Amino acid sequence: MPTTSRGLEPISIQRLVVLGATGSVGANTLSVAALHPSRFEIIALTAHAKGDLLLEQCRRFRPRYAVLANEAAALELQRQVRAEGLPTRVLAGHSALVEVATLPEVDTVMAAIVGAAGLPATLAAARAGKRVLLANKEAMVMAGRLFREALRTSRASLLPIDSEHNAILQSLPAGFEGDLHACGVRRILLTASGGPFLRTPLEGLPRVTPDEACAHPNWVMGRKISVDSATMMNKGLELIEACFLFEASLQQVEVLIHPQSVIHSMVEYVDGSVLAQLGNPDMRTPIAHALGFPQRIESGVRSLNFFELSALHFEAPDLTRFPCLRLAQVALEAGESAPVTLNAANEIAVEQFLRGGLTFDRIPGLIEDVLSRAPVLALRDLAHVLEVDREARALADELIARRGTQATAQLHG
Ligand code: NAD
Ligand code: MG
Repeated sequence: MPTTSRGLEPISIQRLVVLGATGSVGANTLSVAALHPSRFEIIALTAHAKGDLLLEQCRRFRPRYAVLANEAAALELQRQVRAEGLPTRVLAGHSALVEVATLPEVDTVMAAIVGAAGLPATLAAARAGKRVLLANKEAMVMAGRLFREALRTSRASLLPIDSEHNAILQSLPAGFEGDLHACGVRRILLTASGGPFLRTPLEGLPRVTPDEACAHPNWVMGRKISVDSATMMNKGLELIEACFLFEASLQQVEVLIHPQSVIHSMVEYVDGSVLAQLGNPDMRTPIAHALGFPQRIESGVRSLNFFELSALHFEAPDLTRFPCLRLAQVALEAGESAPVTLNAANEIAVEQFLRGGLTFDRIPGLIEDVLSRAPVLALRDLAHVLEVDREARALADELIARRGTQATAQLHG
């Protein structure tokens, strides 16, 4: 996949859309952009329903458009924007996400919506030839092949924001165009922190609360990705993302646990050299790397203090403790629609866990059940991907409801 070189000359003023502006990656993107007011013009900001935060961002960045996926929240935002005389047009609904991501005046789209909801607008941006900064890993997991086609047939380029993939890109030769073998790469080393439950006794996992699962030892992130980090499904999704982005096979990517999150990932070459990217665990570093590419720009991140670093540890992931990582490997090997099913089942499982409808230890079992029941289909197009996604969600909901009924029956029987 042409992740780096094509179409990536420095842009003097970048006209930027931030999809998911009110989230953790979105807010970090705006904080980096705010350090370079003459370099970035914010064309559009989008969010799901947090109108208050989006209004604050509109006051500060004065975008031409603000989009709220939720229609009622959009009406309220429109009223406030008008009352304050801001130069922002408020749009509503999911079609408006695609509309702003493909505006002709836009150069760069930060794709920072969480989950499958971000796929249509992110893919539309790639098809419209934009520079796509990809945080929304679920979009790549669901539609890697469609992204690859979009990048081959449009002027689009894609730079990964996920810290690991950004580190891999920084450790690959400049101008990498998707041929690991030709670049002398032996393997990619994808690092993982292991999350908050790396050492928790397994019998304690049924009782962990959403707040405990979201208390990541090194990173401050949205709740969905925090739970994914605790189950290591995050690394499973990242493994699939890495294979699509760098045209790697499962065998070419090794996952290693590195609890300090200082090395963000590595590339090993055939001569035995290993190149790594290091830094404080702060998303503003990969965001600034991609926003400024190929130049380096200030991110606001402090220097890594080597004298304060404890030793750097590495260990192999324990697939008994982290079955979600194994499930992602299975889905990647099965290919076609299996990663879409994996992602959809995981989104439902995490949502239910966060709402108290499923215990933490039952997340992998639900995903495995959905994966084993859903057929593996050759994906035709975006509509087909979204259909597989809907069906896997419905199956996951049905399995949760059925188990709930069984549990109640056992209780009363
Ligand atoms: P978050 O929950 O903090 O923010 C998500 C954003 O998406 C919000 O602006 C929200 O309003 C918007 N959104 C949510 N559902 C939506 C919907 N249905 N329609 C439209 N907009 C919707 O999430 P985050 O932690 O910023 O993560 C965003 C993406 O970046 C995820 O895919 C995540 O895996 C990836 N990522 C995040 C981090 C991190 O440090 N937070 C690191 C690497 C990758
Ligand atoms: Mg990551």
